Amino acid sequence: MATPLTADRLLKALHDEGVTVVEVGDWRTHNRNKVGVFGPVNGSMVHHTVTKGTAATVAICRDGYADLPGPLCHGVIAKNGRVHLVGWGRANHAGGGDPRVLDQVVAEDYDTRPTPPTRGNTNGVDGNARFYGWECENLGDGNDPWPAAQYNAIVRVQAALCRAHGWTAKSVIGHLEWSSDKIDPRGFGMPALRADVAERLTHPASWSPDDEAPQSEEDTDMTPAQEALLKKLAADVAELKKQQAVAPWAYRNAKLDAESRAAGRRIPDMHGRIEQLQTTLDALTKAVAELKNRA
Ligand SMILES: [Zn+2]
Repeated sequence: MATPLTADRLLKALHDEGVTVVEVGDWRTHNRNKVGVFGPVNGSMVHHTVTKGTAATVAICRDGYADLPGPLCHGVIAKNGRVHLVGWGRANHAGGGDPRVLDQVVAEDYDTRPTPPTRGNTNGVDGNARFYGWECENLGDGNDPWPAAQYNAIVRVQAALCRAHGWTAKSVIGHLEWSSDKIDPRGFGMPALRADVAERLTHPASWSPDDEAPQSEEDTDMTPAQEALLKKLAADVAELKKQQAVAPWAYRNAKLDAESRAAGRRIPDMHGRIEQLQTTLDALTKAVAELKNRA
């Protein structure tokens, strides 16, 4: 349970976490505070928009609809990873949800997922007071891709809030985990997202997973046997090339001399070597597959 961050504190947390922010209009004071409370906050909720095109998505999330006034979230996480802040304070995003889920989020006590919700908009408890809300630009049809830049921004935004409040990744849920009426977000699993947020929280806010690239190369070091296989393959290919240089077809229009007759006699040997090469290649392919499984 926590007092909501101020707009300035949010901006700093997002900036520290490496998020690219776009401030939309009067977002700091654009909210639904006149119809209800915002806070104490207990977590952060991830949604998909069922929209296409960032400009239209941001406009809808800021302004809302006739029967659902905006803001419809605090920030829109666009396909390119930019986070458009459209409101701060109470926002129409979570609606009603399952009080059991709220208890589990408050306690940060559940396994990989909270208990599936049996309550929703009509009979649930008010989630707009309790959760930050992030609308992610996606059609939600299970086919629309989630670009890495967008997914990484989702992870960073959630990590920024967890870090600012001292929460674990279990304070981050999807709308579908809150309300029995909802299916969002669709296209990635919330347990996987929480795992990525948790991983991020083990590093400083400035952490960029790219920094780890050299380490992951180390992780895929080959065993001595695999290295030997690669060397043998290279030697076989070199030998094959040497033989090709004197292959009989290079002398098709030449008078048969001793050299071309010798080359002709090498053909069966060459077939043998190609077979050998295939065997080596098969072994190598198998070794690489094993290496992948190990990593
Ligand atoms: Zn939603």
